[in-house]
This record gives sequence, C-alpha cells and structure tokens, in this order.
Amino acid sequence: MTSEQHAAADDRCGICAMIARLSAGEFPDAIAELPRSWLILGDAQLYRGYCVILAKRHAREMHALPRGEAHELLDELMAVGKAIERVAKPLKLNYECLGNQEPHVHWHVFPRYSDDQMRLEPVWTRPAAERRRPLPDDERQALIAALQAELRTLLPAARLI
Ligand SMILES: [Zn+2]
Repeated sequence: MTSEQHAAADDRCGICAMIARLSAGEFPDAIAELPRSWLILGDAQLYRGYCVILAKRHAREMHALPRGEAHELLDELMAVGKAIERVAKPLKLNYECLGNQEPHVHWHVFPRYSDDQMRLEPVWTRPAAERRRPLPDDERQALIAALQAELRTLLPAARLI
C-alpha cells in the first residue's frame, strides 16, 4: 500500500486488516495485487473458482471512490471475471458488491454451475456451512495458478503472488 492508501485504512475494518496481511505476504489465498485492488480466492469453493476483489482504498461505496479509481477497479473486475470464466467454464457468473458485514468496497465473483440445484437462487440462500467448502491443497494451488496464468495476459499490470 502507498502511504496515502495506508492513511485511508480504517482500524476497525476487517477488510483493511486483510489488506494489511496481504501487503505483508501473510495471506494464504492471495492470487494477485492489481493496481486498484487485491484478488483472493474465496472460502466458498463449493462454487469452484469463487474469488473476491478488495478495493485497496477504504471506501464504503463505489461512488465514494475517486471516479478514475472506480473505473479502473471495474476494469480489474471484468478481467477477473473473464479469467474465472476461462478457467472454471461456469454457466454464469454472479458479481456482487454488498458490504453489509464489512462496509469496504469489495466484489464477490461467484461462478454458477448447471448441476447446482439452487442455481436460480442467490448464493447467500445456501447455508454458509454448505458454501464454505475448502479445496484440497493441490487443487487450490492449481486453481490459483490457472487464474494467474489468465491474468498475466488479461491484466499485464497484475503482480502475481
Ligand atoms: Zn477498510
């Protein structure tokens, strides 16, 4: 983080705390540092390929980000979506920017699959205990490597972790 972004961090914010761990190289599911965000593999790998993009700057809402930064963040989001689509070949992607629990701009990108009996529902209607399925370590590493390989071409500015 630059000093400007660090100064904007909120001590009570769980996502700012995650970003501090990412910056320190202490976050196990890190995928890439992008110019405006950090990309991590999410914990709900029932949706294989699920990722979360964390805005580097602490802001409650997209419109509270400087306009250029918000647009660059959306460009990063689209590249991440394309990378997930190429790697996981889902039926559909769900992009969600909620922030009810952690009011710091972040986007969930969920691949949805045809064999999901709840595929017409938002992922959040499935109990957390079912969603939060970790991958075996070798599969997790292979998935992260595949996403990084796509990002290398889609977003050359990405620093792969
Ligand atoms: Zn924050």
